Amino acid sequence: MTAADEAWLRQRVIDAALDLAATGLSPQMSGNVSAREGARVFITPSGVAYPDLLPADIVEIALDGRVLSGRFPPSSEWQMHCAIYGARPEAGGIVHAHSDFATVLAVLKRDIPAFHYMVAVAGGKDIRCAPYATFGTAELAAHAVAALTDRRACLLAHHGQIAIGASVEDALHLAHEVETLSAQYCRALQLGQPELLPDAEMALNVEKFRRYGRKG
Ligand code: 13P
Ligand code: ZN
Repeated sequence: MTAADEAWLRQRVIDAALDLAATGLSPQMSGNVSAREGARVFITPSGVAYPDLLPADIVEIALDGRVLSGRFPPSSEWQMHCAIYGARPEAGGIVHAHSDFATVLAVLKRDIPAFHYMVAVAGGKDIRCAPYATFGTAELAAHAVAALTDRRACLLAHHGQIAIGASVEDALHLAHEVETLSAQYCRALQLGQPELLPDAEMALNVEKFRRYGRKG
């Protein structure tokens, strides 16, 4: 990666973090964002308000979490980001957020079932909720990797959500989709128990999403 490419990647991580702040997807300093290029991960620093971020503040770490460059410590969730990159070679970006409605479902340990065909955008018939573990631990990282099996997003019990993508922009887009679906599901539950789409229909939707929209 050239120096110009790296500067651009750092800026893309910041842009995604600023989007989280501007859209309210990650209140205050919650959430974190990373992008991966080969064996290097560029991740938001821990506890720094997104509007204050400069490209040099994005921390460069190796897949084992070793800090390669940066003046701040990496996000406390570096283990979760690194474990996901290790398990998912196709992932080029990760967004973690404490978005309102995803978190409402997560505090109730609710999966998002097939109440809407768009649930398939995350890669399967549901979006799982991973069991609770303390933030910033290897245990939480392992739970997230497991809940993401055959999926690109999951909820994290008593915590929030995490979304992955081929790029950091894809991951951000999916985090927004998860929040929209969570809001719709929460509201539907206030009126009744939505009927769920059959597994075969969701398999068809997953297949259609493989070809849907502009790729790359
Ligand atoms: P960091 O500021 O360390 O990234 O932590 C925020 C968070 O959401 C922890 O789960
Ligand atoms: Zn968090």
